[in-house]
Amino acid sequence: MSDIIQLLPDHVANQIAAGEVVQRPASVVKELLENAIDAGATHIKLLVKDAGKTLIQVIDDGKGMSTTDARMCFERHATSKIKKAEDLFNLHTKGFRGEALASIAAIAHVELKTKPIAEELGTCIKIEGSKVISQEFISTGEGTSLAIKNLFYNIPARRNFLKSDTVETRHIIDEFQRVALAHPDISFLLHHNNNEVYHLKKGNFRQRIVAIFGSKMNEKLVPIQENTDIVSIEGFVAKPEFSKRKRGEQFFFVNNRFIKSSYLNHAVVSAFDGLLEQGAHPSYFLYLTVPANTIDINIHPTKTEIKFDNEKALYAMLRATVKHSLGQYNVAPVLDFNRDANLDTPYHFKSNATTATVPKISVDPDFNPFKEEQQKENSFSFKREKQTQSWESLYTATDAIDLKPSETLFEHQQEEKTQKTFQIQRKYVMSLIKSGVVLINQSLAHQRVLYEQFLESITVKEANSQQLLFPVKISFSSAEIEMIYTIKTELENAGFSFDKFTKDSVTIKGIPVSVTESKITIILEELLNDINLEVPDASFSHFDIMAKSFAKTLSIKTGTLLSEKEQESLVNNLFSCKEPTISPFGKATFKTLTLNQIDNLFNS
Ligand code: ADP
Ligand code: MG
Repeated sequence: MSDIIQLLPDHVANQIAAGEVVQRPASVVKELLENAIDAGATHIKLLVKDAGKTLIQVIDDGKGMSTTDARMCFERHATSKIKKAEDLFNLHTKGFRGEALASIAAIAHVELKTKPIAEELGTCIKIEGSKVISQEFISTGEGTSLAIKNLFYNIPARRNFLKSDTVETRHIIDEFQRVALAHPDISFLLHHNNNEVYHLKKGNFRQRIVAIFGSKMNEKLVPIQENTDIVSIEGFVAKPEFSKRKRGEQFFFVNNRFIKSSYLNHAVVSAFDGLLEQGAHPSYFLYLTVPANTIDINIHPTKTEIKFDNEKALYAMLRATVKHSLGQYNVAPVLDFNRDANLDTPYHFKSNATTATVPKISVDPDFNPFKEEQQKENSFSFKREKQTQSWESLYTATDAIDLKPSETLFEHQQEEKTQKTFQIQRKYVMSLIKSGVVLINQSLAHQRVLYEQFLESITVKEANSQQLLFPVKISFSSAEIEMIYTIKTELENAGFSFDKFTKDSVTIKGIPVSVTESKITIILEELLNDINLEVPDASFSHFDIMAKSFAKTLSIKTGTLLSEKEQESLVNNLFSCKEPTISPFGKATFKTLTLNQIDNLFNS
């Protein structure tokens, strides 16, 4: 048989590589901005036309390139940033693969103008689809200008695949914002179709955030600062009352690189525990600096995910720091909309109420404002309930009883028809008992009920599974897929059935009966988060974490209106639990109030 294997010509190889590096115009923007930063630029201009489809140009005042380098930079694996494999573990630059420019040049019309500081003349090179069209000396300023025109001109399929200008522009702005937020010491300019979108002057982190998100942002920011051996954390979280319905302004930067991390996100969100309304997302801008040799940024091709050596310590530190700052800046009381200021007990940290800009206040590190706050709030709002609503609830109660047909003379039948439960503020269910009333926290009670149900179905009996009409494919990171795979059996016990695992997705064909299809993604995401968090605990059992996690995600929440039937079934289910008094996370599910206690309220 004759030989059939050939090496791909360079321009074909580059085009293939381009598919990975350049998904859309925003990918080019990211690569060019990062190159300018690596070149030490202090002023960077980004000019875009037609959402980057016609032109993306980055002009910097960095160190420029020699004529030879200007030619070399378009070769594949041509980089000035690493020389040997070990350098990979101590990176201080954004780039290192040496493939961005080669890839971009394979799928666009490129014009490079560059001049290093010491030279008289600069170089201009034009390339189309990896072919050098012209090269000449020019007189130009110091630094580099790279213009990318007609992206994907030679790959119509990719060009047609691009989204609307609005969507592609949004992606470009996202990339621009991430880079600009990470480098407030560099001035940035963004023009789209000759309109100035951003003109960001050199400044500090706060100024940069405000310049990008508007001056209203300034009053929302609570500063964060912590220095330890393994990490230094600085930046801001937005006060909880400015949290968003949609995840929006959430930024992590590690060593000045924007990253995504659901793990660290969880740390921040959990520091807001008890401060956010249901479904609200806190905004944050957090800059972490860690020793370069303790991270591996190589694990994800687009480099927004990284791997830390000290992930768990980082989690704990981040959570504690954010929590501490929220307390320090007295954010908690502002949240309490229902509180009547006249009745408020002064807190000893109250004097700091409006000092969001004061950089340092010494406080007791063990002081936990939320605990105290929470308790006060609970007891207080309970009192209020009684003060202002007593006649109302009395009225409704009588009403309810009066409206019942009184045709029956039999005591027990009468009792059966009487309303026995009431919902208070879509948060508590009040139920009448012999000795008085019991007040049930609907969400925590439901957690208990679901927790015991799940625990039983996972460990004792075969779970009830429902087959999906159409299997659902869900994307995850490869690390998450690996995690799901390791708990596959437990998940199957709980009622999940899986069709197919790939590197970054899982196809699900059956789910537990208590789960609705729309909840699959969230329930799995939450579970992965919870497992991640529990791992440090040696006594950790997948079953327990899973049951807790599902119970938490699927439980009815505060704010949910319950019909009388639902209230009753919640009460009945709760009291048929093995441990009805506490939620799976150790909080009280209900409190009783005896007639005596009620009497005392009127006697005091
Ligand atoms: P990488 O950034 O991974 O090294 P690139 O393909 O993005 O790979 O760039 C190749 C090389 O071209 C860089 O290593 C750098 O030496 C040079 N280069 C690219 N852009 C610039 C720029 N704006 N200013 C100076 N040098 C640049
Ligand atoms: Mg680069």
